[in-house]
Amino acid sequence: MKKNSIKKIKEVGTLEELDRIAKMLVRRDFELSEIREKRDAELKELEKRNKEITGSRIALMNILEDVEKAKEKSEEERDKTLAIFDNFPEGLLFLDKENRISSANPDIKDLFGLDPEKIIGKRIDELGKSSLAPFIDILKESPKGIYRKELKLKENLILEISAIPVMKVEEKIGTLIILRDVTREKIIERLKTEFVSIVAHQLRTPLSAVKWTLKMILDGDLGEVSKEQREFLNKTYISNERMIRLINDLLNITRIEEGRFLYNVQKQSIIEVAERVIASSREEAQRRGIRFEFKKPRKKIPEVKIDSEKISLVFQNLLDNAIHYTKTGGHVKVSIDYLKDEEKIIISVKDTGIGILKDQQKRVFSRFFRGANAIKTETEGTGLGLFIAKNIVEAHNGKIWFESRKNKGSTFHFSLPTS
Ligand code: ADP
Repeated sequence: MKKNSIKKIKEVGTLEELDRIAKMLVRRDFELSEIREKRDAELKELEKRNKEITGSRIALMNILEDVEKAKEKSEEERDKTLAIFDNFPEGLLFLDKENRISSANPDIKDLFGLDPEKIIGKRIDELGKSSLAPFIDILKESPKGIYRKELKLKENLILEISAIPVMKVEEKIGTLIILRDVTREKIIERLKTEFVSIVAHQLRTPLSAVKWTLKMILDGDLGEVSKEQREFLNKTYISNERMIRLINDLLNITRIEEGRFLYNVQKQSIIEVAERVIASSREEAQRRGIRFEFKKPRKKIPEVKIDSEKISLVFQNLLDNAIHYTKTGGHVKVSIDYLKDEEKIIISVKDTGIGILKDQQKRVFSRFFRGANAIKTETEGTGLGLFIAKNIVEAHNGKIWFESRKNKGSTFHFSLPTS
Protein backbone atom coordinates (compact mmCIF):
# COMPACT_ATOMS: atom_id res chain seq x y z
CA MET A 1 0.00 0.00 0.00
CA LYS A 2 1.11 3.46 -0.70
CA LYS A 3 2.10 5.78 2.14
CA ASN A 4 -0.68 8.27 1.30
CA SER A 5 -3.40 5.70 1.29
CA ILE A 6 -2.26 4.46 4.68
CA LYS A 7 -2.38 8.01 6.04
CA LYS A 8 -5.94 8.51 4.66
CA ILE A 9 -7.16 5.35 6.26
CA LYS A 10 -5.71 6.46 9.56
CA GLU A 11 -7.41 9.88 9.28
CA VAL A 12 -10.78 8.31 8.47
CA GLY A 13 -10.44 6.04 11.57
CA THR A 14 -9.72 9.01 13.83
CA LEU A 15 -12.72 10.97 12.51
CA GLU A 16 -15.02 8.04 13.13
CA GLU A 17 -13.64 7.76 16.61
CA LEU A 18 -14.20 11.47 17.19
CA ASP A 19 -17.71 11.22 15.84
CA ARG A 20 -18.46 8.34 18.18
CA ILE A 21 -17.00 10.25 21.10
CA ALA A 22 -19.00 13.35 20.16
CA LYS A 23 -22.22 11.27 20.00
CA MET A 24 -21.44 9.72 23.29
CA LEU A 25 -20.88 13.15 24.79
CA VAL A 26 -24.24 14.37 23.44
CA ARG A 27 -25.96 11.31 24.91
CA ARG A 28 -24.17 11.82 28.24
CA ASP A 29 -25.18 15.44 28.26
CA PHE A 30 -28.78 14.42 27.67
CA GLU A 31 -28.58 11.86 30.44
CA LEU A 32 -27.03 14.40 32.79
CA SER A 33 -29.74 16.97 32.12
CA GLU A 34 -32.35 14.27 32.81
CA ILE A 35 -30.63 13.47 36.11
CA ARG A 36 -30.50 17.16 36.94
CA GLU A 37 -34.20 17.57 36.21
CA LYS A 38 -34.99 14.57 38.38
CA ARG A 39 -32.83 15.93 41.19
CA ASP A 40 -34.51 19.33 40.90
CA ALA A 41 -37.91 17.66 41.15
CA GLU A 42 -36.73 15.70 44.16
CA LEU A 43 -35.40 18.85 45.74
CA LYS A 44 -38.74 20.55 45.22
CA GLU A 45 -40.50 17.55 46.76
CA LEU A 46 -38.12 17.69 49.70
CA GLU A 47 -38.80 21.37 50.20
CA LYS A 48 -42.52 20.72 50.10
CA ARG A 49 -42.17 17.91 52.65
CA ASN A 50 -40.05 20.15 54.81
CA LYS A 51 -42.73 22.82 54.74
CA GLU A 52 -45.39 20.28 55.65
CA ILE A 53 -43.28 18.95 58.53
CA THR A 54 -42.72 22.45 59.85
CA GLY A 55 -46.49 23.06 59.63
CA SER A 56 -47.23 19.84 61.48
CA ARG A 57 -44.64 20.67 64.12
CA ILE A 58 -46.26 24.03 64.74
CA ALA A 59 -49.71 22.41 64.93
CA LEU A 60 -48.34 19.80 67.34
CA MET A 61 -46.78 22.49 69.48
CA ASN A 62 -50.12 24.30 69.58
CA ILE A 63 -51.90 21.11 70.55
CA LEU A 64 -49.33 20.47 73.28
CA GLU A 65 -49.81 23.99 74.53
CA ASP A 66 -53.60 23.47 74.61
CA VAL A 67 -53.18 20.15 76.42
CA GLU A 68 -50.91 21.81 78.95
CA LYS A 69 -53.45 24.58 79.50
CA ALA A 70 -56.29 22.02 79.86
CA LYS A 71 -54.16 20.07 82.33
CA GLU A 72 -53.47 23.20 84.35
CA LYS A 73 -57.17 24.04 84.33
CA SER A 74 -58.20 20.56 85.42
CA GLU A 75 -55.58 20.60 88.17
CA GLU A 76 -56.90 23.97 89.28
CA GLU A 77 -60.46 22.55 89.31
CA ARG A 78 -59.28 19.47 91.21
CA ASP A 79 -57.50 21.64 93.78
CA LYS A 80 -60.58 23.79 94.11
CA THR A 81 -62.80 20.72 94.66
CA LEU A 82 -60.32 19.34 97.20
CA ALA A 83 -60.17 22.70 98.99
CA ILE A 84 -64.00 22.81 99.15
CA PHE A 85 -64.04 19.21 100.40
CA ASP A 86 -61.38 19.92 103.06
CA ASN A 87 -62.85 23.22 104.21
CA PHE A 88 -66.48 22.09 104.22
CA PRO A 89 -67.83 22.80 107.72
CA GLU A 90 -69.39 19.32 108.00
CA GLY A 91 -67.98 15.81 107.84
CA LEU A 92 -67.72 14.51 104.27
CA LEU A 93 -67.00 11.03 102.99
CA PHE A 94 -67.01 9.94 99.38
CA LEU A 95 -67.54 6.25 98.70
CA ASP A 96 -66.90 4.72 95.30
CA LYS A 97 -69.15 2.17 93.61
CA GLU A 98 -67.76 -0.64 95.79
CA ASN A 99 -68.39 1.38 98.97
CA ARG A 100 -64.67 2.02 99.34
CA ILE A 101 -63.82 5.33 101.00
CA SER A 102 -62.13 7.41 98.35
CA SER A 103 -62.12 10.77 100.16
CA ALA A 104 -62.67 11.94 103.72
CA ASN A 105 -62.29 15.48 105.01
CA PRO A 106 -60.61 16.59 108.27
CA ASP A 107 -63.98 16.90 110.08
CA ILE A 108 -64.17 13.10 110.06
CA LYS A 109 -61.24 13.18 112.45
CA ASP A 110 -63.03 15.62 114.77
CA LEU A 111 -66.23 13.57 114.74
CA PHE A 112 -64.78 10.07 114.98
CA GLY A 113 -61.16 10.53 116.00
CA LEU A 114 -60.13 8.68 112.83
CA ASP A 115 -57.25 9.78 110.64
CA PRO A 116 -58.73 10.25 107.15
CA GLU A 117 -55.43 9.02 105.63
CA LYS A 118 -55.86 5.68 107.41
CA ILE A 119 -59.38 4.99 106.20
CA ILE A 120 -59.00 6.06 102.58
CA GLY A 121 -59.06 3.05 100.27
CA LYS A 122 -60.83 0.84 102.83
CA ARG A 123 -64.28 -0.59 102.27
CA ILE A 124 -66.75 0.50 104.93
CA ASP A 125 -67.42 -3.07 106.03
CA GLU A 126 -63.69 -3.42 106.75
CA LEU A 127 -64.08 -0.66 109.34
CA GLY A 128 -66.33 -2.77 111.53
CA LYS A 129 -64.48 -2.15 114.80
CA SER A 130 -63.70 1.52 114.24
CA SER A 131 -65.74 4.37 115.66
CA LEU A 132 -67.59 4.49 112.33
CA ALA A 133 -69.16 1.14 113.23
CA PRO A 134 -72.53 2.46 114.53
CA PHE A 135 -73.55 3.83 111.17
CA ILE A 136 -71.98 1.32 108.82
CA ASP A 137 -75.40 -0.27 108.30
CA ILE A 138 -76.82 3.07 107.20
CA LEU A 139 -74.02 3.59 104.73
CA LYS A 140 -74.24 0.04 103.44
CA GLU A 141 -77.80 0.62 102.31
CA SER A 142 -76.21 2.54 99.43
CA PRO A 143 -79.31 4.50 98.66
CA LYS A 144 -80.90 5.05 95.28
CA GLY A 145 -82.26 8.46 96.27
CA ILE A 146 -81.18 10.89 98.98
CA TYR A 147 -81.29 9.14 102.33
CA ARG A 148 -81.34 10.91 105.67
CA LYS A 149 -81.12 9.59 109.19
CA GLU A 150 -80.33 10.90 112.62
CA LEU A 151 -77.89 9.00 114.75
CA LYS A 152 -77.01 9.49 118.41
CA LEU A 153 -73.33 8.53 118.54
CA LYS A 154 -72.90 9.38 122.21
CA GLU A 155 -74.57 11.48 124.90
CA ASN A 156 -73.44 14.80 123.49
CA LEU A 157 -73.14 13.96 119.83
CA ILE A 158 -76.13 13.62 117.53
CA LEU A 159 -75.43 13.46 113.81
CA GLU A 160 -77.70 13.94 110.86
CA ILE A 161 -76.41 11.64 108.14
CA SER A 162 -77.32 12.35 104.52
CA ALA A 163 -76.25 9.90 101.84
CA ILE A 164 -76.50 11.26 98.30
CA PRO A 165 -75.93 9.08 95.23
CA VAL A 166 -73.52 10.78 92.82
CA MET A 167 -74.44 10.23 89.19
CA LYS A 168 -72.46 10.73 86.01
CA VAL A 169 -74.99 10.90 83.21
CA GLU A 170 -77.09 7.80 84.04
CA GLU A 171 -74.46 5.83 85.92
CA LYS A 172 -73.90 5.92 89.69
CA ILE A 173 -70.23 6.58 90.40
CA GLY A 174 -70.38 6.71 94.17
CA THR A 175 -72.08 8.06 97.27
CA LEU A 176 -71.41 11.33 99.03
CA ILE A 177 -72.05 11.19 102.76
CA ILE A 178 -72.55 14.39 104.72
CA LEU A 179 -72.33 14.19 108.50
CA ARG A 180 -73.83 17.18 110.26
CA ASP A 181 -73.55 17.72 113.99
CA VAL A 182 -77.13 18.57 115.05
CA THR A 183 -76.61 18.16 118.81
CA ARG A 184 -77.26 21.84 119.54
CA GLU A 185 -80.43 21.97 117.43
CA LYS A 186 -81.69 18.81 119.12
CA ILE A 187 -81.09 20.24 122.61
CA ILE A 188 -82.91 23.47 121.69
CA GLU A 189 -85.75 21.47 120.14
CA ARG A 190 -86.06 19.37 123.31
CA LEU A 191 -86.06 22.44 125.52
CA LYS A 192 -88.72 24.08 123.35
CA THR A 193 -90.90 20.96 123.46
CA GLU A 194 -90.48 20.73 127.24
CA PHE A 195 -91.33 24.41 127.60
CA VAL A 196 -94.51 24.10 125.51
CA SER A 197 -95.47 20.96 127.40
CA ILE A 198 -95.04 22.63 130.83
CA VAL A 199 -96.93 25.77 129.79
CA ALA A 200 -99.75 23.75 128.24
CA HIS A 201 -100.10 21.59 131.36
CA GLN A 202 -100.08 24.66 133.58
CA LEU A 203 -102.76 26.35 131.48
CA ARG A 204 -105.01 23.33 131.22
CA THR A 205 -105.83 23.16 134.95
CA PRO A 206 -107.14 26.76 135.36
CA LEU A 207 -108.96 26.54 132.02
CA SER A 208 -110.73 23.38 133.18
CA ALA A 209 -111.65 25.14 136.44
CA VAL A 210 -113.11 28.06 134.43
CA LYS A 211 -115.03 25.58 132.24
CA TRP A 212 -116.70 23.82 135.19
CA THR A 213 -117.49 27.06 136.99
CA LEU A 214 -119.11 28.51 133.86
CA LYS A 215 -121.04 25.28 133.37
CA MET A 216 -122.37 25.40 136.94
CA ILE A 217 -123.48 29.02 136.47
CA LEU A 218 -125.10 28.25 133.11
CA ASP A 219 -126.88 25.20 134.58
CA GLY A 220 -128.34 27.52 137.26
CA ASP A 221 -126.55 25.74 140.11
CA LEU A 222 -125.46 29.08 141.58
CA GLY A 223 -128.78 30.86 141.20
CA GLU A 224 -130.91 32.49 138.56
CA VAL A 225 -129.10 33.74 135.39
CA SER A 226 -130.64 36.50 133.28
CA LYS A 227 -130.95 36.17 129.46
CA GLU A 228 -128.29 38.78 128.88
CA GLN A 229 -125.91 37.22 131.41
CA ARG A 230 -126.47 33.80 129.76
CA GLU A 231 -125.53 35.19 126.36
CA PHE A 232 -122.22 36.59 127.67
CA LEU A 233 -121.50 33.47 129.69
CA ASN A 234 -122.16 31.27 126.64
CA LYS A 235 -119.69 33.26 124.56
CA THR A 236 -117.10 32.99 127.36
CA TYR A 237 -117.75 29.25 127.58
CA ILE A 238 -117.17 28.82 123.80
CA SER A 239 -113.94 30.88 123.92
CA ASN A 240 -112.76 28.84 126.89
CA GLU A 241 -113.51 25.60 125.00
CA ARG A 242 -111.47 26.91 122.06
CA MET A 243 -108.53 27.55 124.37
CA ILE A 244 -108.81 24.06 125.86
CA ARG A 245 -108.79 22.60 122.33
CA LEU A 246 -105.68 24.57 121.43
CA ILE A 247 -103.94 23.49 124.65
CA ASN A 248 -104.86 19.85 123.93
CA ASP A 249 -103.49 20.16 120.38
CA LEU A 250 -100.24 21.63 121.73
CA LEU A 251 -99.94 18.83 124.27
CA ASN A 252 -100.52 16.24 121.56
CA ILE A 253 -97.82 17.84 119.45
CA THR A 254 -95.31 17.82 122.28
CA ARG A 255 -96.10 14.13 122.82
CA ILE A 256 -95.54 13.46 119.11
CA GLU A 257 -92.23 15.32 119.23
CA GLU A 258 -91.10 13.42 122.29
CA GLY A 259 -91.98 10.16 120.53
CA ARG A 260 -94.35 9.03 123.31
CA PHE A 261 -97.64 9.12 121.53
CA LEU A 262 -99.10 5.65 121.30
CA TYR A 263 -99.41 3.95 124.63
CA ASN A 264 -102.63 1.97 124.59
CA VAL A 265 -102.60 -0.20 121.49
CA GLN A 266 -105.25 -2.93 121.40
CA LYS A 267 -107.07 -5.00 118.79
CA GLN A 268 -110.51 -3.54 118.25
CA SER A 269 -113.30 -2.82 115.81
CA ILE A 270 -112.74 0.35 113.83
CA ILE A 271 -116.51 0.57 113.26
CA GLU A 272 -117.17 0.87 116.99
CA VAL A 273 -114.53 3.61 117.32
CA ALA A 274 -116.05 5.43 114.33
CA GLU A 275 -119.61 5.16 115.65
CA ARG A 276 -118.65 6.71 118.99
CA VAL A 277 -117.15 9.79 117.32
CA ILE A 278 -119.80 10.03 114.64
CA ALA A 279 -122.65 10.32 117.18
CA SER A 280 -121.59 13.83 118.26
CA SER A 281 -120.56 14.93 114.77
CA ARG A 282 -123.96 13.92 113.37
CA GLU A 283 -125.65 16.30 115.84
CA GLU A 284 -123.29 19.14 114.95
CA ALA A 285 -123.93 18.54 111.21
CA GLN A 286 -127.69 18.62 111.82
CA ARG A 287 -127.39 21.90 113.72
CA ARG A 288 -125.57 23.39 110.73
CA GLY A 289 -128.07 22.04 108.18
CA ILE A 290 -125.61 19.56 106.65
CA ARG A 291 -126.74 16.09 105.53
CA PHE A 292 -124.65 13.41 107.26
CA GLU A 293 -124.23 9.83 106.10
CA PHE A 294 -122.22 6.88 107.42
CA LYS A 295 -121.66 3.98 105.02
CA LYS A 296 -120.53 0.87 106.86
CA PRO A 297 -118.87 -2.01 104.97
CA ARG A 298 -121.30 -4.77 103.94
CA LYS A 299 -119.06 -7.60 105.02
CA LYS A 300 -117.49 -8.19 108.41
CA ILE A 301 -114.08 -6.60 108.65
CA PRO A 302 -111.16 -7.69 110.82
CA GLU A 303 -110.24 -5.88 114.01
CA VAL A 304 -107.25 -3.57 113.88
CA LYS A 305 -104.47 -2.93 116.36
CA ILE A 306 -104.95 0.69 117.36
CA ASP A 307 -104.77 3.21 120.16
CA SER A 308 -108.51 3.95 120.02
CA GLU A 309 -108.23 7.30 121.79
CA LYS A 310 -105.76 8.54 119.17
CA ILE A 311 -107.66 7.11 116.18
CA SER A 312 -110.81 8.80 117.58
CA LEU A 313 -108.84 12.05 117.46
CA VAL A 314 -108.10 11.45 113.75
CA PHE A 315 -111.80 10.79 113.06
CA GLN A 316 -112.78 13.83 115.11
CA ASN A 317 -110.37 16.14 113.28
CA LEU A 318 -111.47 14.94 109.84
CA LEU A 319 -115.16 15.14 110.72
CA ASP A 320 -114.83 18.58 112.35
CA ASN A 321 -113.07 19.87 109.23
CA ALA A 322 -115.63 18.34 106.85
CA ILE A 323 -118.49 19.94 108.83
CA HIS A 324 -116.82 23.31 109.48
CA TYR A 325 -115.67 23.81 105.89
CA THR A 326 -119.03 22.83 104.34
CA LYS A 327 -121.86 25.32 103.97
CA THR A 328 -125.48 24.76 105.02
CA GLY A 329 -127.21 22.43 102.56
CA GLY A 330 -124.00 20.48 101.95
CA HIS A 331 -123.31 16.81 102.46
CA VAL A 332 -120.76 14.88 104.56
CA LYS A 333 -120.28 11.15 104.03
CA VAL A 334 -118.11 8.77 106.03
CA SER A 335 -117.28 5.35 104.61
CA ILE A 336 -115.16 2.42 105.71
CA ASP A 337 -113.84 -0.14 103.21
CA TYR A 338 -111.83 -3.29 103.69
CA LEU A 339 -109.26 -4.15 100.99
CA LYS A 340 -108.62 -7.81 101.79
CA ASP A 341 -105.84 -8.36 99.25
CA GLU A 342 -103.95 -5.29 100.35
CA GLU A 343 -104.59 -6.14 104.02
CA LYS A 344 -105.86 -2.73 104.94
CA ILE A 345 -108.90 -0.75 105.94
CA ILE A 346 -109.57 2.59 104.30
CA ILE A 347 -111.61 5.24 106.04
CA SER A 348 -112.87 8.16 103.94
CA VAL A 349 -114.56 11.42 104.94
CA LYS A 350 -116.09 13.18 101.94
CA ASP A 351 -117.66 16.62 101.91
CA THR A 352 -119.14 19.06 99.41
CA GLY A 353 -117.47 22.07 101.03
CA ILE A 354 -115.16 24.93 100.09
CA GLY A 355 -112.25 22.68 99.06
CA ILE A 356 -108.54 23.44 99.32
CA LEU A 357 -106.83 25.72 96.80
CA LYS A 358 -104.56 23.78 94.44
CA ASP A 359 -101.43 25.83 95.16
CA GLN A 360 -101.84 25.26 98.93
CA GLN A 361 -102.49 21.53 98.84
CA LYS A 362 -98.85 20.56 99.47
CA ARG A 363 -98.85 22.29 102.87
CA VAL A 364 -102.09 20.82 104.23
CA PHE A 365 -100.42 18.41 106.68
CA SER A 366 -97.85 20.87 107.98
CA ARG A 367 -98.04 22.53 111.36
CA PHE A 368 -100.19 25.69 111.65
CA PHE A 369 -101.33 25.56 108.02
CA ARG A 370 -104.68 27.24 107.43
CA GLY A 371 -106.06 27.65 103.92
CA ALA A 372 -106.72 31.21 102.69
CA ASN A 373 -110.36 30.35 101.82
CA ALA A 374 -110.82 28.51 105.15
CA ILE A 375 -109.73 31.52 107.22
CA LYS A 376 -112.50 33.57 105.56
CA THR A 377 -115.29 31.06 106.22
CA GLU A 378 -114.16 29.72 109.59
CA THR A 379 -112.16 32.14 111.70
CA GLU A 380 -111.63 29.55 114.42
CA GLY A 381 -108.96 26.89 113.91
CA THR A 382 -105.41 26.15 114.96
CA GLY A 383 -104.00 24.51 111.83
CA LEU A 384 -102.79 21.64 114.01
CA GLY A 385 -105.51 19.01 113.51
CA LEU A 386 -104.24 17.48 110.28
CA PHE A 387 -100.62 17.55 111.43
CA ILE A 388 -101.64 15.56 114.50
CA ALA A 389 -103.84 13.24 112.41
CA LYS A 390 -100.96 12.48 110.02
CA ASN A 391 -98.62 11.66 112.89
CA ILE A 392 -101.17 9.37 114.54
CA VAL A 393 -101.95 7.51 111.30
CA GLU A 394 -98.25 7.09 110.45
CA ALA A 395 -97.51 5.85 113.99
CA HIS A 396 -100.05 3.08 113.18
CA ASN A 397 -98.13 2.32 109.93
CA GLY A 398 -100.99 3.78 107.93
CA LYS A 399 -101.20 6.54 105.35
CA ILE A 400 -103.31 9.70 105.06
CA TRP A 401 -104.10 11.57 101.83
CA PHE A 402 -106.81 13.63 100.19
CA GLU A 403 -108.36 14.93 96.98
CA SER A 404 -109.89 18.35 96.86
CA ARG A 405 -111.32 20.89 94.40
CA LYS A 406 -112.10 24.50 95.14
CA ASN A 407 -115.81 24.96 95.91
CA LYS A 408 -116.52 21.32 94.96
CA GLY A 409 -115.43 19.56 98.11
CA SER A 410 -112.73 17.41 99.67
CA THR A 411 -112.27 13.74 100.51
CA PHE A 412 -109.77 12.78 103.18
CA HIS A 413 -108.75 9.12 103.41
CA PHE A 414 -106.63 7.21 105.88
CA SER A 415 -105.57 3.60 105.81
CA LEU A 416 -104.80 1.19 108.66
CA PRO A 417 -103.05 -2.15 108.15
CA THR A 418 -104.95 -5.24 109.27
CA SER A 419 -101.91 -7.51 109.40
P1 ADP B 1 -107.85 23.78 111.41
O1 ADP B 1 -109.04 23.12 110.83
O2 ADP B 1 -107.88 23.92 112.87
O3 ADP B 1 -107.51 25.05 110.70
P2 ADP B 1 -106.45 21.48 110.37
O4 ADP B 1 -105.03 21.08 110.54
O5 ADP B 1 -107.48 20.51 110.77
O6 ADP B 1 -106.58 22.85 111.15
O7 ADP B 1 -106.65 21.88 108.86
C1 ADP B 1 -105.70 22.69 108.23
C2 ADP B 1 -106.32 23.44 107.08
O8 ADP B 1 -106.64 22.55 106.02
C3 ADP B 1 -107.63 24.13 107.38
O9 ADP B 1 -107.44 25.38 107.98
C4 ADP B 1 -108.25 24.23 105.99
O10 ADP B 1 -107.69 25.31 105.30
C5 ADP B 1 -107.79 22.97 105.32
N1 ADP B 1 -108.81 21.90 105.40
C6 ADP B 1 -108.76 20.80 106.15
N2 ADP B 1 -109.84 20.02 105.93
C7 ADP B 1 -110.59 20.66 105.00
C8 ADP B 1 -111.83 20.36 104.35
N3 ADP B 1 -112.54 19.24 104.61
N4 ADP B 1 -112.30 21.24 103.44
C9 ADP B 1 -111.60 22.36 103.16
N5 ADP B 1 -110.44 22.71 103.74
C10 ADP B 1 -109.93 21.87 104.65
